[in-house]
Amino acid sequence: MNRPLKYLLFFFLSAASTTAAFAQANFLRITDYKILYGWATHAPQDYMILRQFANEGKNYYLLVDPRTLVTKIDETNNYQVKTMNLADARAFFKNTPYVRAIDQAEKQSANIQDAGIQEGMPKEAGISLTADLCPSHRPLDRRVFTDIFTEFEKVERPAPVALSITGVWMRQHPDDLAWLKQMQANKEIYITWINHSYNHRVSATAPLRDNFLLEPGTDINYEVLETEKAMLRNGLLPSVFFRFPGLVSDQQLVYKITDFGLIPVGSDAWLAKGQKSAPGSIVLIHANGNEPIGVDDFIKLLHQEAGSIAKKQWLLYDLRESVDEEFESTSTGQ
Ligand SMILES: [Zn+2]
Repeated sequence: MNRPLKYLLFFFLSAASTTAAFAQANFLRITDYKILYGWATHAPQDYMILRQFANEGKNYYLLVDPRTLVTKIDETNNYQVKTMNLADARAFFKNTPYVRAIDQAEKQSANIQDAGIQEGMPKEAGISLTADLCPSHRPLDRRVFTDIFTEFEKVERPAPVALSITGVWMRQHPDDLAWLKQMQANKEIYITWINHSYNHRVSATAPLRDNFLLEPGTDINYEVLETEKAMLRNGLLPSVFFRFPGLVSDQQLVYKITDFGLIPVGSDAWLAKGQKSAPGSIVLIHANGNEPIGVDDFIKLLHQEAGSIAKKQWLLYDLRESVDEEFESTSTGQ
């Protein structure tokens, strides 16, 4: 892992408590959902526009603050706007952590596995936790969240976690999703929602180059945008992050994802595969019930670090802040 990338990610992970969770509306009648780029300003704050849609007679943008990578949904008439194509919008915001993170992800796009950003900035001990919710017939592994809450309640509340969610999982597990949203509403955890594709198709036999989103016939527009719409219907705020199913991609696919304005996020510590976490790691576990070994390892890690957690020497970092800080720190001479 190269050093700049490491710094990039760390930026993102600590914003949770400051960007307090607000109850996101459920957009139940979305129409005209489309990709739109540009600059929107509500003085003194600038945003980059990522999407536009209508719901119940009102028009909305999905916006990102390119300095913090924090997203929000807001009505279009609250902003002065200049629409642009993506290249112009990226040029306009080129010195921001958001655009630097996209540039960096594209530079690391050639790997068949684990492309994109893999680590945060290890300014302090601690990690960013990402937990994937791939389609599964098993219930949510709730231990992940109840143990995080128990360990961090007194030192970091809400504790930040990033969940990579699929459209199919949302459809299969409405009760588990409601339970997670309730934890967020209670400020027990703060969830950054990562797009993990809609269908998350996988073949047990196909080689990686034809598997997951590289499967011939995959409709990438559907996989990305239908997941965003499902998030919005379910009251979840889409972030600017994307995680490849199986962590599998090729260069062309990475560029397709960055063309949606999304930042691929890999992992340098997939616990169930025996990879160990280090300060600043982006840890990957599966919270969908399919990988209890990884969850056991994570809980073991929490208990090992309990003393440091109590002294605030080992924390969970908000993925957005980790990436943000990493790209701030690489802002000179690049
Ligand atoms: Zn997955």
